Amino acid sequence: MPIFVNRTLNLKRIKLIGFDMDYTLVSYYTREFEKLTHSMAVRKLIDRHGYPGEISSLTFDGDRAVLGLVIDRRNGFLLQLSRYYKVKTSYFGLQQVEFREQNRIYGNMTVDLRHPDFISLDTSFAISHGVLFSQLVQLKKEGTPLPDYGRMEEDIRDAVDIIHRDGSLKRKLKADFPRYVIQDEVTAKVLERYRAYGKKLMIITNSDYEYTKALLDYSINPFLKHCGSWEEVFDLVITLADKPLFFERKSRFLRIDPATGLMSNHEAPVTAGMFQGGCSRTIEADLGLTGSEILYIGDHIYGDVVSIKRSCNWRTALVLKDLEEEIAGIRRSKPVQQQIDLLMGRKEQLERRINEIDILAYEGTRKNPRELDELFQEIDRLNEEISSLLGTYVQYFNPYWGPMLRAGFEESLYAEQIEKYACIYMTRVSDLYSYSPRTYFRPQRRILPHESQITDA
Ligand code: IMP
Ligand code: MG
Repeated sequence: MPIFVNRTLNLKRIKLIGFDMDYTLVSYYTREFEKLTHSMAVRKLIDRHGYPGEISSLTFDGDRAVLGLVIDRRNGFLLQLSRYYKVKTSYFGLQQVEFREQNRIYGNMTVDLRHPDFISLDTSFAISHGVLFSQLVQLKKEGTPLPDYGRMEEDIRDAVDIIHRDGSLKRKLKADFPRYVIQDEVTAKVLERYRAYGKKLMIITNSDYEYTKALLDYSINPFLKHCGSWEEVFDLVITLADKPLFFERKSRFLRIDPATGLMSNHEAPVTAGMFQGGCSRTIEADLGLTGSEILYIGDHIYGDVVSIKRSCNWRTALVLKDLEEEIAGIRRSKPVQQQIDLLMGRKEQLERRINEIDILAYEGTRKNPRELDELFQEIDRLNEEISSLLGTYVQYFNPYWGPMLRAGFEESLYAEQIEKYACIYMTRVSDLYSYSPRTYFRPQRRILPHESQITDA
């Protein structure tokens, strides 16, 4: 796949490339991973939070949530927002909310994501959270005694958080990596190629050292041709980084002894080695680099991309695995999209004619009084046709949410965040292999509305 460019990025100027690990350097079979998280979270809700045993019959349906959705904890809804923070599609439990009802609740508001009632699904790790929330809301609607929506969301978040942190989920992954982890030979080739060119390479992950080692031993080591192991590939490895705080505040580094995994205080400059914790400012200062000489590649739109752009001005790249499916959907739906565009063009012509008639009527020179009625009838007919085609169009994408990066006619909020904060984006790190480490990425020139309206004089 090509790499997509939002802002000019000259790789020649980049001296240090940082990688997030989970879902960036190493990708997972999301459905399998989230199915496991879902079932373990359900168990936790029963055992730890006293939820009724009947919820154990819930089965994971990965289509029920996509990246970028927002949970409304107050109303119990799952929302897809447009770039203007307007609700475009919503589900209450497993049922799509009818347009009029959605408009009654959200029509007059722009969603303020800083408010604690709203929780964004920012990474693939959050899919199970969104799915489970919708399923529990549905059960509550059907009469199962469950806490209020806000409490329920908090309990799910707590359950998912615990299984990620207490080692139980990681133990299951480690026991069966082939089931959950995608091995991508080309990623190792990218790393060796960029390293051979003289780029310094770094990992900044929120995973702990033990898991990082196990995962990279499995996914990178078998494919290295020039280095003995991933430890040789990376100049700096930072585990349990606590992103996004890593980019936002100052904090101390602990040095990890790779032979034993033991940690000790580290007072010297941070220029190479294996660490836990720390912060971005120390790395910049100790390596003598400015933000514009560092590129960071991650999958978490907030923790890896937005927070970096806001706090330390490094260059950013987003890895968005689900983009592959989205692009396939766009390709397959093209004939339908062309039909829609054609009908929209026809509708615009008719609307222009209505406008002309209006002016003629205003000026008292209107000729055919029946023409207006005919035009409105034709527009109604076109609207019906367009709406039926739109129904067909969304079927090429997620069956509940349609395209991830579109919210109806507009871009989704997730698309807006990518455009605003990620200098470049790609479906996977291995896409970089086709690009030399001295590539000059240039965005396409955007056409502004007034520019697209200009016709030949
Ligand atoms: P990274 O993407 O390499 O920074 O690593 C992400 C880490 O965060 C992985 O170890 C995940 O298991 C962990 N993680 C994902 N979601 C949660 C959560 O909700 N609570 C705690 N840890 C999480
Ligand atoms: Mg990640």
